[in-house]
Amino acid sequence: MQTVSDEFEQVTDHRRVNARYELADMLRSAFAMFSLKSPSLLAFQEQMPAEKANLQTIYQIGAIPSDTQMRAALDPVDPAPLRALFARLFESLRLAGVVSAYQSWHDHVIVAVDGVEHFSSTKIHCDHCTTRTHRDGVTSYHHAGLAAVLLHPDHEEVFPLDFEPILNPDGARKNDCERNAAKRLCAALDERYPTLKMILVEDALYANAPHIRQLTGYGWRYILNVKPDSHPSLEKQFAGRRATRQVKELRYRDAQGVHHAFAWTSRLCLCDSAPDVMVNYLLYEQTDPRGKLTRWTWVTNLPLSARTVERVMRAGRGRWKIENETFNTLKNQGYHFEHNYGHGTQNLATVLALLMLLAFSVDQMLQGCWHLWRQVRAGLRTKAKLWESLRSLFQVLEFSSMTDLYRHLAFLYGAQIE
Ligand SMILES: [Zn+2]
Repeated sequence: MQTVSDEFEQVTDHRRVNARYELADMLRSAFAMFSLKSPSLLAFQEQMPAEKANLQTIYQIGAIPSDTQMRAALDPVDPAPLRALFARLFESLRLAGVVSAYQSWHDHVIVAVDGVEHFSSTKIHCDHCTTRTHRDGVTSYHHAGLAAVLLHPDHEEVFPLDFEPILNPDGARKNDCERNAAKRLCAALDERYPTLKMILVEDALYANAPHIRQLTGYGWRYILNVKPDSHPSLEKQFAGRRATRQVKELRYRDAQGVHHAFAWTSRLCLCDSAPDVMVNYLLYEQTDPRGKLTRWTWVTNLPLSARTVERVMRAGRGRWKIENETFNTLKNQGYHFEHNYGHGTQNLATVLALLMLLAFSVDQMLQGCWHLWRQVRAGLRTKAKLWESLRSLFQVLEFSSMTDLYRHLAFLYGAQIE
């Protein structure tokens, strides 16, 4: 939180010079609002004396602005320096040993990329909104972005590395938009994390030649979902090789009675129009004890063999964590990701989404690295209960630090603290 607060100080203020509130305080206020999971800007503004003191001590806010002042000040803020903050937090994760604990393939880590929408309206819009025309003629306006998230199949915590806004000039069709944004996101990841060895895990939309050329150009590894209908030529080549016994296979049944079947082959051509892009292909079928079959197919540039296919499969399936542990948490576990805190005419919608994602990142760091947090969490049934208790205490009692607050919480719930 100290890092976040210090970095806010560096963000350029685009308002007129004699503004009454410091921009850093505006950013800290919005961050505090998301960190405390306050349901609205207005609810955040009506503070009791203890809350005011805590905002000043714990979140280092000098003067607390009103909701209108906050929206007006944050609207012209350039999102770029806020995005750079994820890389600053990542340095702390590296020092804490998290990055090495998240290595999934030698010294490579899994980075999942996927799109998520955070604003939608049929009335409010700005120049940057993407638009959709519905069958009944109604136009709706949207803000979405592509998130890149560090994850590991065995760990619950996910750590956002970056968030690329999908904006109006990206194109009229959803797929074009995401692909254009992905191009910028990957360039940004390469620039911000030059030494990080990445395995990019993405859905079938990204299994296209230009994207694969870009990834391999950076020296990255990839595991990309493909489907029979999205990549018919691959499916055909694979079937051809299988018929001529050129496909290797591995099957086993585990202790739970689940049947695992792997089939793979190397160096297939991604599609007819890109003969230079060669991919390794993995088919994985899982049959549960009741006989229900689930099928996955991926293309990858990781080497496939009887010794590696299980790791590739686990990394490929790990992608669900960006949907479940990241987007679902943001939408349904207290963060109100799709709630409209403000839209503005310039960058407000994006700035607020970034600040919320930053608050989520800090929470994930606390969860992954802070013993006291885990002890308090263990004493409570749901995370929602934790946020609720945290916010209530924050409103009525003064604390000297976040640690102080968590100790008190642990005491109230009778959690065992070492
Ligand atoms: Zn807009």
